[in-house]
Order: sequence, then C-alpha cells, then structure tokens
Amino acid sequence: MNVLVTGGAGYIGSHAAKLLLTSGHNVTILDTLELGHEQVVTNLRTLPQANEQTLAFCKGSTADRETVTKLLREREVECVMHFAAYALVGESVTDPLKYHRNNTGAAVELLEACDASGVSKFIFSSTCATYGEPSEEFIPIKESTPQHPINPYGNAKLAFEKALMDFRTKREIEGRPFACAMLRYFNVAGSDPDVLIGEDHDPETHLIPIILQAALGKRPGVTIFGTDYPTPDGTCIRDYVHVQDLVSAHATVMNALGDCDLRTYNLGIGKGLSVREIIEAAKQVTGVDFKVSEGERRPGDPPTLYADPSRVRAETDWVPQFTDVNEIIRTAWDWFSAHPDGYAS
Ligand code: UDP
Repeated sequence: MNVLVTGGAGYIGSHAAKLLLTSGHNVTILDTLELGHEQVVTNLRTLPQANEQTLAFCKGSTADRETVTKLLREREVECVMHFAAYALVGESVTDPLKYHRNNTGAAVELLEACDASGVSKFIFSSTCATYGEPSEEFIPIKESTPQHPINPYGNAKLAFEKALMDFRTKREIEGRPFACAMLRYFNVAGSDPDVLIGEDHDPETHLIPIILQAALGKRPGVTIFGTDYPTPDGTCIRDYVHVQDLVSAHATVMNALGDCDLRTYNLGIGKGLSVREIIEAAKQVTGVDFKVSEGERRPGDPPTLYADPSRVRAETDWVPQFTDVNEIIRTAWDWFSAHPDGYAS
C-alpha cells in the first residue's frame, strides 16, 4: 500500500515508517523537522528495501493543504498514518492555542487534502489523555470510558477524533468510502531492536528515557514525582507498551480496515507498573545504581492509568511481542547507550 506517515522523522512515526518499509509498503514521510530528525530518513535509506519508489521524504507541514494535496496525488497515497503533533502536556497548558492550531487545525487541513485526493484510510495517533482522570470503576480503561480530558493536549486530540468521525460520515453519505481508526496510546517506550532509529526528544520529559540518561551519567539522578498516591507503593501506575508493538498495531489495523470502518482501540499491554517498579527494572537492566530522590507530585498526573486492550486483541490479529518491561527497557538502553546524545551522537 502507498502510505503517508506524518511525523515520520519523530520517535513513533519513524518506527512506523521502518516497519511499513520493511513489510513491503511504499512510504512517504512528511515532517517539518521542528521536532523530527533528518537523520531518521538518512538511516532508513540504508535499508535494503529503500529506493526512490519505496521511500520519499517531504519537509513540510500538514497545515500546507496545497503541498500536501499535491504530494498525496503524486505518491498515489491510499492510507495516511497521522503521527505529527505536539505532545507536551505542561506546554499545552501554557500555550493551548499552539496545540489547538497544530494538533487539531493542521490535522483538519490534512483531512481536506485527503478529501481532494485518493486517500481512503486514515489512522490517527490519539491518546489515553482523552480519558482525563477516570475514576476507579473505569480502570482498566476500555474504549467506552467517558472522555473528559483535563488539559489542552487531551482536548485538542479529542477535538480531532470528532472531526475525523464527522468527516468519515460525510464521505459515507457521499458514497465515497473512507475508513478511519483512532488509536489511543498509553505509555510508549523502547526503541528499534536493530538500533537503526530510536527515541530523541528535546526536552525529554518521559520516565524511561530520563532514567536511562541518569544511568548514563547524563543527569544527576531521577526524581519520583509523588510518593503519596493511592497505589500499593505510593507512586503512579502506567501501562508501558513497546513502540515496535504500537506501530505493528497500526499496520495490523490498516490491513483490517474495511470500506467505511470506524474503529477505536486502546493500545496498551493491559498491565500497570509503578514508577518504583520501572526504576527497579532499569537498575537491573543497566546494572547501574543511579541516584533516586522523592519529589512533589507533577500537576495533572492521574494515579493509575492502564488499558483494557481486549477489543483490539479480539477484533484484530495484533499480538504484542514485548510483555516484559525489562525487555522494553533493554531495547531503549541499547539505543541510549549507543547514542547518548541521540541522533547527534
Ligand atoms: N515520572 C517521574 N519522574 C520523572 C518523569 C516521570 O516520577 O522524571 C512519572 C510521572 O509522574 C508519571 C510516570 O512517571 O507518573 C510516567 O510519566 P511520563 O512522563 O513518562 O508519561 P505520562 O504518563 O505522563 O504520559
């Protein structure tokens, strides 16, 4: 299939681009390179499957409807996987319009470009942040859990989910089938087991990369944000899913989408691990006894979030390969120890 991967030079998008390319699809990466890395494209070009037909790169924004329409037509794109987005919850509170402009507005422009070209499938990177802080009765989180985001990041992602659903309905009414999937991610972690691509955020805010940077001596240590949560060890519980498994779910769903399908899936392993458990696992994997301190809660962190992934498991062939967190951390450690300064290394 001919697939456009927006944000394909970023962390999750690059793993999707690699998987699609190595499974025989033609990939077009669209990325502003504001947060993505050109080195991703260079590295993907070293793959034996990569040539001018199978891998193309366009530096640009989904907001540029004219350019994107032209690109979709030229590359005869059939499916769009839309990863490009800002994803810092704290920043979304201080600059909400940045999130609404990009994560919703620019994504709507992308849909307009899809409407003007031959795209008939759309897979959207949504988030468990659209559920906000579900009460205990909704844990583990099913797709039917009420969506009440508690920050502009979640609001903007939910707004685009709704735009996408409305657009799909319009196309069905017109008799021009358009299928879409909303994939709500939990905590994505780990890196490409081949170490060709990996995680490189600036600033880094996520727990596992921060821990591994501490293990590498690039940070003085790790601070646990809150030890008084109503959880067994007092620290927050999250569902860590390997990036390779996450993107394989995208490919599985893309292949499963029928003409006018609308699918919504939670992508997590279905197992909750606390911050302390992640720290202990990382100490084992790295063999480094890095410094750990206990700090205040980070505003907006719900105590417990983990998925009920039974719908995606029942309705598709998706089987996550990385169910042991030590293995997830090991792939991240392989990347970070080989690239302590990310793609700049
Ligand atoms: N966390 C922490 N110290 C850090 C970074 C994160 O204790 O330096 C905690 C954070 O409060 C949350 C969990 O680790 O409970 C996962 O945070 P992350 O930012 O990786 O993902 P989130 O769940 O916020 O999407």
